[in-house]
Amino acid sequence: MKNIFDTLLLTEIFQGLGITLKHLFKKKVTYKYPFEDTPIFPRFRGVQYIKTHENGATKCVGCYLCQKVCPSECIHIVTDCGPNGERLIRKYELDLSRCIYCGFCEEACPVDAVHMGRNYHTTDSTRDHYVINMKTLSENYKKELADAQAKGEQL
Ligand code: SF4
Ligand code: SF4
Repeated sequence: MKNIFDTLLLTEIFQGLGITLKHLFKKKVTYKYPFEDTPIFPRFRGVQYIKTHENGATKCVGCYLCQKVCPSECIHIVTDCGPNGERLIRKYELDLSRCIYCGFCEEACPVDAVHMGRNYHTTDSTRDHYVINMKTLSENYKKELADAQAKGEQL
């Protein structure tokens, strides 16, 4: 009997329409990426940056710890001995196409040089562009610093 009334009064159709109407006025849960940035949570780990001193020199001392700890083996460092016995960094490359954004490199760094950034816009059409060097990593730092200062945050 109940089924006959439900059929005659189109109860189920109105129930369905009610659910649709309820969701129509709910807050959006999707974003129009890449036209709209998605929110980033405080512990988000994005593309790395390497801090520099005020004179522009890298804070990295070429200790190889980040390379050693990286589970994806995506960091490649080459160092040399300078005229006064100092360590010179000849090459620092990070392959973002292999990186799993685990943050181990940041944790291992003894001089607070390499950090996980907040940039997640990594799409590119060329595989080679995913290999970033010390210059790019230092530029990333400048961008992250400017962003943080604009928001009144600290890096
Ligand atoms: S985040 Fe993890 S995988 Fe990526 S470079 Fe650092 S240690 Fe390697
Ligand atoms: S752990 Fe830090 S200081 Fe050592 S090579 Fe990596 S970035 Fe440079």
